[in-house]
Amino acid sequence: MLVKAAIGQGVAYLDGTTATLESSFTQASEPVVLQLRSASTAAEKAGQQSERWGVALVRIAVVAAGLTRSPLINRTAWPAEVAPNSRIGVQCLIPAELLRRQEWSWSQGLQLMQGNELRMLIGSRGYLGISRTDGDYYDFAAALDPAAIRSEKSIEAAIDRLLVECALPALGKLNPNRWASTPHLTRASWPVARDRVFLLGDSMGYVEPFTGEGMSWGLAGAKRLDKMLGPVLGDSSLSQSAAEELESGWNRWAAGQRRRNQSVCRWVAGQVRRPTRAAWLLTGLDWLPPVRNMILRKATR
Ligand SMILES: Cc1cc2nc3c(=O)[nH]c(=O)nc-3n(C[C@H](O)[C@H](O)[C@H](O)COP(=O)(O)OP(=O)(O)OC[C@H]3O[C@@H](n4cnc5c(N)ncnc54)[C@H](O)[C@@H]3O)c2cc1C
Repeated sequence: MLVKAAIGQGVAYLDGTTATLESSFTQASEPVVLQLRSASTAAEKAGQQSERWGVALVRIAVVAAGLTRSPLINRTAWPAEVAPNSRIGVQCLIPAELLRRQEWSWSQGLQLMQGNELRMLIGSRGYLGISRTDGDYYDFAAALDPAAIRSEKSIEAAIDRLLVECALPALGKLNPNRWASTPHLTRASWPVARDRVFLLGDSMGYVEPFTGEGMSWGLAGAKRLDKMLGPVLGDSSLSQSAAEELESGWNRWAAGQRRRNQSVCRWVAGQVRRPTRAAWLLTGLDWLPPVRNMILRKATR
């Protein structure tokens, strides 16, 4: 849907192409240089190596490449702080059919009857969200302490330990041995704009998935950046001072966002690390729906 909408707006979408920020000059009269690499899918399927390289010279670049910020090869110019106690994200899909064949009913046990419901299980070393997906799968997505995975020796074992801790059956043999994983989740890039390159979404920084805020931040940022950059995109004579103003505007917006919304998420993520306290807190918030709704609004806006 996103790709279709972008193409509808006149975007040239280069599928299977990766970009690296080769250099960006401090002078606004110089272009930002992007190295483009595209692998030919047909050649890859035939087991042959076939890569095409190209260069794009642009006035402004937006890096929305997720947590890894892979286009930014010059990490000294683009520092990022990773929280020392950061968790990592893991995710897998398990066919509903497999779970239906089990003695213990996952749909009833988790009360997951509707497609739009999500169960969050909080353990001492991570949490796990389980929901149904469109394609008749169960989606298991978790944030785990890397130390828990090391001590259990695998992601599968760490997930099984969390399920048992929450009084649910372990997945055991159903546990797929191919979980997708992310790097450390809790991180912040600073600055988020310089030399006419602007970071967006997870590339700017991220807290944790517990409050489900990542996508709404990404979309809110995109809307905001569009408003800022839209008027100057067609301006071939962007002055140095105008470019610097845009960059400091974006750095200011990111700082405000962190102060206002991410601080709520950091607080929630902190509570989740103490399951007993989190249980009390959730019970308390059930009695105070306006406070609960205010926290949710602040975290996800
Ligand atoms: C376990 C887990 C559960 C989550 N649950 C939720 C949730 O319930 N709700 C929610 O809102 N958020 C959730 N999130 C967070 C959410 O997934 C992210 O915040 C969101 O996807 C960030 O969007 P993004 O566009 O910034 O980055 P991404 O979604 O990571 O997209 C980056 C894109 O850039 C591409 N890319 C990378 N490098 C290059 C390159 N060099 N050149 C070209 N392209 C490149 C990648 O292929 C990718 O397509 C969860 C995260 C985790 C780990």
